[in-house]
Amino acid sequence: MHAHPHPPLDLLVLGAGPAGCAAAHAAHGLGLRVQVVDPAPERPWPNTYGSWRDALDGLALGHVARRTWATTRVHLDADRSLALPRAYAQVDGAALREHLLAGPPPPQRARVVALAHDDTGTTATDDDGGIWRARVVLDATGAQTPFIERTRTLAPGFQAAWGWALTLDDAPWPADEMRLMDFGPVPGGDEAAPSFLYAMPHGGDRWFVEETVLVGRPAMPFEALEARLVARLAALGCTARDITATERCLIPMGLGLPRGDQRVLGLGAAAGMVHPATGYSLAHSLRAAPEVVAAVAEALGADGGGPAAAARAGWAAAWPRDRRRAWTLLTYGMEVLCRLDAPATRDFFAAFFEADDWAAFLDGTQPLPALTRTMRQVFAAAPWGVRGRLMGGSFSAPGLRMLGALLG
Ligand SMILES: Cc1cc2nc3c(=O)[nH]c(=O)nc-3n(C[C@H](O)[C@H](O)[C@H](O)COP(=O)(O)OP(=O)(O)OC[C@H]3O[C@@H](n4cnc5c(N)ncnc54)[C@H](O)[C@@H]3O)c2cc1C
Repeated sequence: MHAHPHPPLDLLVLGAGPAGCAAAHAAHGLGLRVQVVDPAPERPWPNTYGSWRDALDGLALGHVARRTWATTRVHLDADRSLALPRAYAQVDGAALREHLLAGPPPPQRARVVALAHDDTGTTATDDDGGIWRARVVLDATGAQTPFIERTRTLAPGFQAAWGWALTLDDAPWPADEMRLMDFGPVPGGDEAAPSFLYAMPHGGDRWFVEETVLVGRPAMPFEALEARLVARLAALGCTARDITATERCLIPMGLGLPRGDQRVLGLGAAAGMVHPATGYSLAHSLRAAPEVVAAVAEALGADGGGPAAAARAGWAAAWPRDRRRAWTLLTYGMEVLCRLDAPATRDFFAAFFEADDWAAFLDGTQPLPALTRTMRQVFAAAPWGVRGRLMGGSFSAPGLRMLGALLG
């Protein structure tokens, strides 16, 4: 047991992933006494993060883009291949981490296992017996959080992907083009369970390629994804060699939203910020961090303000009512996507990228009226076969009951 507790903090952040580091950065900027803890405080982030370039620029983070591709392509089939007018970037995780942690004290080693709240703050205990005291605790421990309670527990969908950094001989397209989704058929692949290729040229003959199921339930097994990737690369006429890294990606999506009345605050995947229809959360967490932390700082500084009021204010900033409702609708979109086979998925995306505001839909930043407008446009642009499936999901009696429950 540690004889002395750590010095008291304004904000204790659990988890040194992107969300936790963003929260620490914001808190330090506002002069709060903040500390991040993580069981592996110096471990580089394991994931290969990608983001729309304009999202990084909007956060004044253009400098953490390792590479930017002016052309982002969605390839559906031989007849439908869309060059999106939106640049995509590979994020340099080390540079982003360094940027976020330039101000606050370096993360310390601790796995927090218990939280006890009282009127003046929270006592956190780690698995080494260490005691941490803070006015507010922010949980950024990822989707498996042991601390955050959700309003409803929903059956998650899963984005599953198998990726390689490798050398490709006879590359299938020029190195200035990134493929966000290549839904071309895979020889021997099961069209009932759609997957696509996500491919980033890394310069010269180096590539990052990933066979991905956008969202499915249950998750497609990694062996099946790997086999598809091998078959797809062969079908594209490429020869793969010199694999230097393998990424196994499994992202739970559509977990319920967090309750707004709990004492532990949250950010990132722990706080339900993974987009239910895309699996992305990085830009969302980076955008939300300053809003949430500013609300906490203000409530802590206010007359009569205390930790309970600060946590409430933080949750209200993270998940205002309108954003909750929009997110719920996106979760419903996820349910529909889970049910589409490959031909319907291709038709769906052909219609989706005709909608005016597809970019904001993918960012998850649309207020509810704009989101419903986009969904209506997609519906109107979709061929009859897909409309039937969308309606089968959304307007059937069970579908309506579910939507009512979700929005209620
Ligand atoms: C392979 C992969 C690729 C992805 N690619 C993208 C992408 O390109 N773009 C995108 O937007 N999203 C992507 N995602 C989805 C999502 O954005 C990431 O999962 C992202 O890392 C979530 O960030 P986070 O900070 O919320 O949580 P995490 O990154 O999961 O970080 C949680 C941290 O908390 C620590 N921790 C856990 N338990 C405790 C505890 N009890 N006490 C203290 N610390 C604890 C962990 O060690 C970890 O460091 C990807 C996910 C995966 C798995």
